[in-house]
Amino acid sequence: MNIKVRKNIESLVPYPPGKPLKELEREYEISGCLKMASNENSLGPSPMAIEAIGRSLHDLHRYPDGSCYYLARALAERLGLSPDELVIGNGSNEIIELLVSSFVSPGDEVVSSFPSFLVYQNAVQVRDGINRVIPLKGMKHDLKSIASKITPRTRLIFLDNPNNPTGTLIEKQEFDDFLRYVPDTVIVVVDEAYIDFTRPELRLNFREYLQGQKPVVFLRTFSKAYGLAGLRIGYGMMRREISTYLHRVRQPFNVNELAQVGALACLQDRDHYDRTMDMTREGLHFLRTEIEKLDCRTYPSHANFFLADVGRNCRDVYESMLRKGVIVRPMSAYEFPEFIRITVGTEEENKRLLAALTETLTESGREG
Ligand SMILES: *Cc1c(COP(=O)(O)O)cnc(C)c1O
Repeated sequence: MNIKVRKNIESLVPYPPGKPLKELEREYEISGCLKMASNENSLGPSPMAIEAIGRSLHDLHRYPDGSCYYLARALAERLGLSPDELVIGNGSNEIIELLVSSFVSPGDEVVSSFPSFLVYQNAVQVRDGINRVIPLKGMKHDLKSIASKITPRTRLIFLDNPNNPTGTLIEKQEFDDFLRYVPDTVIVVVDEAYIDFTRPELRLNFREYLQGQKPVVFLRTFSKAYGLAGLRIGYGMMRREISTYLHRVRQPFNVNELAQVGALACLQDRDHYDRTMDMTREGLHFLRTEIEKLDCRTYPSHANFFLADVGRNCRDVYESMLRKGVIVRPMSAYEFPEFIRITVGTEEENKRLLAALTETLTESGREG
């Protein structure tokens, strides 16, 4: 074999996903493990989504509706937008890829933060774009510094709000000041994967920005608050002048039938959504309070996860908790060598996590 891979693919580092539950159970030969590492919804999918998916199984020999007609109309109505201001994707990850494919030519620049969602950088490298990566400041996007790194070759800016992994938020005033510095040739992408968990009065008003002078795109997902991570479905909100290109680039049947049906059904399930919000709010408060008592600093978060400074090598803490059947996310890949990221779970899960962390921390003394 004498194949020649593209240079930027050779040097690509795969995205480090959270460890799958089944893998842990296989490796350690234990069962009943807990995954509190990928910010999924511990309550599971909405029962209404499960039922709707069950009913549609008999149609799986058909291609799905390539326009997501019913889901796009339902979402548009709920959001106060027109269906052609939406692009629905195979997870919001696909919308990230479509934006990069549509707007980034080799050598063009894309600005993002670090630590932040690593998928942005990955998508840019695949397209031979150039990543300009700006360190967070005080755990938040450093919007001033980001604005100062814009050049004539800048095409996109990715901002996750709340930021993953810090859970911090962009304030409206900050964002407006920032937008004033951004030329209208640059698309600002606000990734709102966790916005459901953020108090409504603290959110950016996406409708205001979609109508404004500057091109701003908002991303949302069914993977977190709606509990459908396994189905892969998310969407972007953007003006028609942008969505038209993404629709040209995307696969004709990019969103599978079960995902369309499941997402449509769970939009109707207000009860499941409210329970998710209550569980997360209470669990976040409980976990942070109890973990602080273990002498670990925790950070406030506007999402369904938070960071804890465990004061020692996070890989060791991660491994030790794995042996107790609890998966958390070590933050070494994000250059927080002593931090773990914890996803809020159910009351029972939170207690199990706390027990595993307490044991882990008492087994190993604090270094230095
Ligand atoms: C989890 C997450 C997403 C969701 O991606 P999907 O492809 O919709 O599952 C998007 N952005 C961030 C920052 C995330 O953490």
